[in-house]
Order: sequence, then C-alpha cells, then structure tokens
Amino acid sequence: MTILTALRKKNFTRAVDLAFTYGYRDAPSVATGLEIWTRDVHHLELIFTRRPYLLEAVPQEVLEQMRLIAGLLHLLGRDDPLQSVRPANGHVPGTHIESKWAPHMLLRHADFLAMMETLWERAAQRPGLYLTVRTAGDEWVCRSCREMSKMRYRLDDDFELPNPLCTCKMGCRCHLHPGIY
Ligand SMILES: [Zn+2]
Repeated sequence: MTILTALRKKNFTRAVDLAFTYGYRDAPSVATGLEIWTRDVHHLELIFTRRPYLLEAVPQEVLEQMRLIAGLLHLLGRDDPLQSVRPANGHVPGTHIESKWAPHMLLRHADFLAMMETLWERAAQRPGLYLTVRTAGDEWVCRSCREMSKMRYRLDDDFELPNPLCTCKMGCRCHLHPGIY
C-alpha cells in the first residue's frame, strides 16, 4: 500500500506507519516516535474531517483532493514541492486562493485546532492565558490579517485560523501566539 492509497482509504494509522517505514518520519527514541506517530494520526484526522470557514464554498470533490494533498504535505514535508500531485495553476473554486497554496489552509486549520486542544487542556493552570495572531509579516499579508493581528483573544472567543476573512492570494499564513496577562 502506498501512503496516498492509505490516505484515500482514510487509514491514517497506516499512512503514518508508511511515512516512518519509508523514512519520511524518524525519531531519536521509541517514546518520541510514539508521540510523533500519535500527533500525526490526529493531524490527519483533523485535515480529513474539519473544514475551515475560509474554504466553506469549495466544492466537496475539490476539497477531498485538497485533503489528500494536505495529508501528503503533512507526512512528506510541507516545504517539498509535490509537483506531481499539485493541481494546475489558477485558484481553487469557491476561493481567491492560488491552487498550490490552498491545501496549506487545511494544514493551518489542523495546526490551529490541535493547538487550541492543547491550550484548553492547560487552561486551568493558565487562567491569564490570551492569544494573539501573528502574520507572515511580509508585503503579501492582507488588510484583514493585519487587523486580526492587532486583536487579543481568549480561548472561548469565536475565532479561527486560517482567518475566514483573509484575502491573501497565498491564503492566510497567520499562526497563533499564546501569551499570559
Ligand atoms: Zn490574509
């Protein structure tokens, strides 16, 4: 079975096993390996089950393709250009985002959700916790993302990443940054 087949079958444990088998993932110890394995499986579940508001208008069939690409990017390395599986140029239907960047929105959403889960688990020990959003800080960051980065959020505030109002051509590249009052 290939990693892509495992992802298609939504067999995430197998997909992560294969990523380790073929050396796309490695770990200095069994304990660390198990931690990475568990985190990877959970990230894949989030990528394949959750849809960010920013991609709300994307047709289901296109979204499923993007999920496969996002899953591969997650397992094989996010910076590797996966030319063979990347969609053609142009933007993803239902968005303003260029095709090659759009799958990253699923990865960023999974990162956001996983980070929020961790923060909620620790919320009791960190009563003064607040969150800010940091942009990529370059000239391509849109006005809405810049505005969002001026806000402070609490865990139970209604917000998410990628920024649902983002108009960046590369999609939202913002990430969460926790702070303490
Ligand atoms: Zn933006």
